Amino acid sequence: MTSPDLFTLHLLIDNQDVAVKNYLEVRDPGRFAEVVGLVAQADASHVDQAVLAAHKAFGSWRRTSLAERSALLLKAADLIEAQAGSVLELMARESGMLVGTNKAEIGMAANIIRDNVELAADFLKPRQVEDDASWVSVEKRPIGVIAGIVSWNAPVILTMRKLAPALICGNTIVIKPSPTGAMGISTLLKHMAALFPPGVINVVHGGAEVGHALSTHALVRKISFTGGGEVAQAIMKDAARAIKDVQFELGGNDPAIILEDARIEDLMPKLVGGIFRRSGQFCFAVKRVYVPESIYDTFFEAMCREVDQFKVGHPLDPRATLGPMNNRHQWQFIKDLHERTRAAGADVIELGQQLDPASWDQGYYLRPAVVKRADPDLEVVTTEQFGPLIPVVAYRSEADVIRMANQTELGLGSSVWSADFDRALALARELEAGMTFINQSGTSRLGQKNIPFGGVKQSGIGRESSEVGLAEYVQYHGINYHKR
Ligand code: NAD
Repeated sequence: MTSPDLFTLHLLIDNQDVAVKNYLEVRDPGRFAEVVGLVAQADASHVDQAVLAAHKAFGSWRRTSLAERSALLLKAADLIEAQAGSVLELMARESGMLVGTNKAEIGMAANIIRDNVELAADFLKPRQVEDDASWVSVEKRPIGVIAGIVSWNAPVILTMRKLAPALICGNTIVIKPSPTGAMGISTLLKHMAALFPPGVINVVHGGAEVGHALSTHALVRKISFTGGGEVAQAIMKDAARAIKDVQFELGGNDPAIILEDARIEDLMPKLVGGIFRRSGQFCFAVKRVYVPESIYDTFFEAMCREVDQFKVGHPLDPRATLGPMNNRHQWQFIKDLHERTRAAGADVIELGQQLDPASWDQGYYLRPAVVKRADPDLEVVTTEQFGPLIPVVAYRSEADVIRMANQTELGLGSSVWSADFDRALALARELEAGMTFINQSGTSRLGQKNIPFGGVKQSGIGRESSEVGLAEYVQYHGINYHKR
């Protein structure tokens, strides 16, 4: 069922809007009474149509020149920047993320596309060697139809990290956004897809069943997934049935290690931003903070002062610096985690200002909270919380903090904060993580382009961004000519 008055998103197959029987009503997570729009829910037959369209398009897309693919992708990067204004509010209302955050996200996504185009020029060159007896060419070929399955927390960035390298290498793609983060990204994808031949970019919507139909489709050659570990296990089982390749970007439990020479006042805004941006709902958010015993009290007081500056409200309220949680599941999990942490005897301090307390129960609102002198074995320290709640743990020695930081099955990001570069670097090299940021909690522009984004242990398989991310979307073809 659709409504002429409501924003309605259909499926996108072969560059056509495909209407379906069922539409999901998406409500504003900060104003439950408001319906933001309707999103078409695919079934297995739509997934089949989308994959067949992508498979058909692959036949000719794979033969296009790198120059042609590059030109189209660069146009697409410009286009999403130009279209950003039309989706910023929509993204805020469907996801709870602040308008400024969404704007930065689209800018970064455009850069991801441009980086991939630039890196591909070198990366896709065949390597040829020769001796008296033979000639060898090692060539990089596209894989085929890629399934891109993404989470809701930063859908434009997460999608472009898959789409850009897939397309520049000559693959076609079927994207499945998350039910609670589909409208903004799919609107942009529709504009983008129109630049490309039909079938190169396709979009299906729905939940686990649609994701499963995509992962098990015989013509999908690789699954690139961003989300949680449990779903990754299900996808891996599905992929195993047809020996499909997978690439996984999963959760993290990123430690921030403060050294006693760190400049507390300088680092605090960056650290607190790295914890609470997107209400803590991003994979490489700082998820636990380790502070030397010698400076703990001073540090903790400074941290509380900084966290207390947050103003929690609806993302369209220009005063808001922290929005609601994206969905009921995540909100309830954090509320319950507050309770379990308190029940374990810990001091959970809620800070920040409620902008509109009367409507607080009309959204998934939570105040940012810090856990004082958190025991290292508490659940809030050992699991990924993915919300605005941060444990601050005291430590006595460097050996101690390295052991605690590495005592986890996750290993996405991490950060070290110190005035001494050599000491910070030495400590960074001891951490079991895919990425370590020194005196920040994320990558610089140079890092975004050059660092293979991803994690070790159960934080993922494979990487995104850089030439390592491009390598996820090719298969090798060796040709050997025997001269005699
Ligand atoms: P999720 O795993 O619940 O869902 C992710 C996607 O998988 C959604 O599109 C969902 O509909 C789909 N899905 C669900 N069941 C499926 C199935 N059986 N088969 C195929 N697809 C299925 O994760 P989420 O709640 O959307 O995201 C939160 C998690 O994602 C957190 O753990 C976070 O750390 C992680 N994450 C990681 C990164 C990264 O780059 N490493 C980035 C963002 C989020």
